[in-house]
Amino acid sequence: MKNIDQIYINGEFVKPNGTERFELVNPTTRESFGSVTLGDEQDARRAIAAAKAASSSFARSTVQERVDILQRLSDSILERIDELAEANILEYGAPRMASVGRVKLAAGNLMDSMEALENFEFIKYIGKAKVVAEPVGVIGIITPWNASYSQITAKLGAAIAAGCTVVIKPSELSALQTQLLTECIHAAGVPAGVINIVNGLGTTVGAEFTRNSDVAMINFTGSTRVGKEIRRATVDSMKRVTLELGGKSPNIVLDDADFTKAIPAAVRSCFSNNGQACVAGTRLFVPEHRLEEVKRLARETVESIKVGLPSEADTVLGPQVTHKQYLQVQHYIKAGIKEGAELVIGGEGHPDGLEQGYFVKPTVFANVTEEMTIAKEEIFGPVLSILTYKTEEEAISMANNTDYGLGAYISTANLEKANELASRIQAGVVLINGAGFEMKAPFGGFKHSGIGREYGIYGLEDCLEIKTITGFD
Ligand code: NAD
Repeated sequence: MKNIDQIYINGEFVKPNGTERFELVNPTTRESFGSVTLGDEQDARRAIAAAKAASSSFARSTVQERVDILQRLSDSILERIDELAEANILEYGAPRMASVGRVKLAAGNLMDSMEALENFEFIKYIGKAKVVAEPVGVIGIITPWNASYSQITAKLGAAIAAGCTVVIKPSELSALQTQLLTECIHAAGVPAGVINIVNGLGTTVGAEFTRNSDVAMINFTGSTRVGKEIRRATVDSMKRVTLELGGKSPNIVLDDADFTKAIPAAVRSCFSNNGQACVAGTRLFVPEHRLEEVKRLARETVESIKVGLPSEADTVLGPQVTHKQYLQVQHYIKAGIKEGAELVIGGEGHPDGLEQGYFVKPTVFANVTEEMTIAKEEIFGPVLSILTYKTEEEAISMANNTDYGLGAYISTANLEKANELASRIQAGVVLINGAGFEMKAPFGGFKHSGIGREYGIYGLEDCLEIKTITGFD
């Protein structure tokens, strides 16, 4: 059993003041594999005080010192890649291949922040003014459970590059991953107080970060509901906020696309990270007269995907992270059926032989209309909705008919057309013809998908205050 009974403050592992214990459950088997003692508001305040005390000296650190820290942090993570990946499999149920990729991504985020830092001009001259970029101060980092390592390092890398100290509250559902990552951070030899990490609940530790006047900025990834709560909670203290929130991303396949590539890619990308990805293309838009072909290709793709134990090398889809998440997906599948969508494959319940964990059937619905719940709300599970359009004009208007604006996908043989559509889509990231993400480029959402941008130079800029000085010479 893994019992985690420590938090990380001022460069040391210490016992939390909080006493509440949270059980850690393996989503593949529903068995408890340990527990974590949750920190409380007092622990959050201790962490904030340590970050505050370290902030002025860290703000004066040299670029080279921070470059070295980022390099050491990245190396330290890669040194324990197998253990970190195993924890991701055990605690989250991520398939093995994806887990290793996640750890590499986490280390890569720190290297990207390092590169951004090496190329960043902290002082610029504009007219007769000197414009200086200064660290914003203590940053409160709050992250979700669905990609714990990479979410934390994207925010941590940006903060360190900017010269900010941090307090981090990862999801309580990632306590084991947090423990290992914290050990890597400790081994990297970062000055005491620069990085502080507290296990705890959002409503206690997270809420203390949002209201504490010594925290200058909140960098949050999670649901739109909690993002809005955080925005409200930070109004009076005028904290800066970067919010990476939910999505209901469109995937538009034009008539001239190669459907034998575009449809399997659409299905697989919607189901990546066990269907628990903020940027998943969950609404697939196809020309009305191609629907039968699309349904066949989608069905064949789902049949070719192995749903199974995340520890097995060929598994593509593992379990949902918790029973709550399992029930949420079941609720949406039921709603799809009740509201009249056509079930192409999948449906309610567990896949055969996988009743022991929080596994759901990868599910595809066709004949989905814009009013249906499954077309509007973020499901956060492997459920794809196929909608049809008659004209490209209609496709764009349906794609934009959502409160969200995180990602968008386009497939077409006509690149000029793709770029025109990209300019009309309300989303922070547009991926054309199966192109992957560029992790050095900014990531973030339009509309209810968030505020601010992360990664690379944009992430660094989000952690800075700008001061204009005239008469300096
Ligand atoms: P969540 O919003 O429930 O929780 C996120 C974090 O906020 C957790 O650490 C939680 O403890 C904390 N929290 C909860 N209430 C809080 C409060 N009142 N004050 C401060 N902190 C609080 O999200 P989740 O269920 O952990 O993650 C899934 C959500 O995250 C999905 O909506 C998904 O789309 C979103 N997400 C977005 C991105 C992105 O980059 N845009 C990436 C990954 C996940």
